[in-house]
Amino acid sequence: MMTITYETGDGLYVNITNRCSNSCDFCIRKLGPGAYGSDSLWLDREPTVDEITESILARDLTKYAELVFCGYGEPTERIDDMIEVARRVKAVHPMKIRVNTNGHARLLHPGKDVTSIFEGAIDIVSISLNTANAADYQKVCHSRFGEAAYDALIKFAGDVRPYVSEVLLSVVRGSIPDEDIEICRTIADKVGVTLRVRDLIK
Ligand code: SF4
Repeated sequence: MMTITYETGDGLYVNITNRCSNSCDFCIRKLGPGAYGSDSLWLDREPTVDEITESILARDLTKYAELVFCGYGEPTERIDDMIEVARRVKAVHPMKIRVNTNGHARLLHPGKDVTSIFEGAIDIVSISLNTANAADYQKVCHSRFGEAAYDALIKFAGDVRPYVSEVLLSVVRGSIPDEDIEICRTIADKVGVTLRVRDLIK
């Protein structure tokens, strides 16, 4: 059985792909098959847009504060499908929708509009910044795009900002030095988005 949707806190999380352009040292995929108490999130095949939408709409959506695209892989690997699902859900139940992403959409889909398509579909884009510079990022995230991934994700944050209510760049407290958090704050300020310093989920 595929786990397409799962509950975490007050959110309903949506798992649409195993694919990811990173291989982060801290990825939940390296910690076991599930995430935060869910069943295995490994997908034997990618669910279709219809299957994802059905799995979401089968839930009582009034129970959740938000819908979050965030699974075992990088949701923007399937950016068109993700946007289509979000639009279908909003048409039935106008809830807040967030995507947790590594911010590589532009590198994954060269030449494609990967920002204005968020308008009216996604409310919050939360991008993992993780580190204060490209070399450190590559050391822990092992992107297949190399160090270029870091600048690309920062640019994506600024570029998608006009099309959604909120863009967050996130770092985890304790995983980088305090002085690096201040560098990350400057980076976020420069592109006009918010730095979110979150605690490690154990
Ligand atoms: S970007 Fe996210 S899904 Fe991809 S390897 Fe890193 S933690 Fe895992």
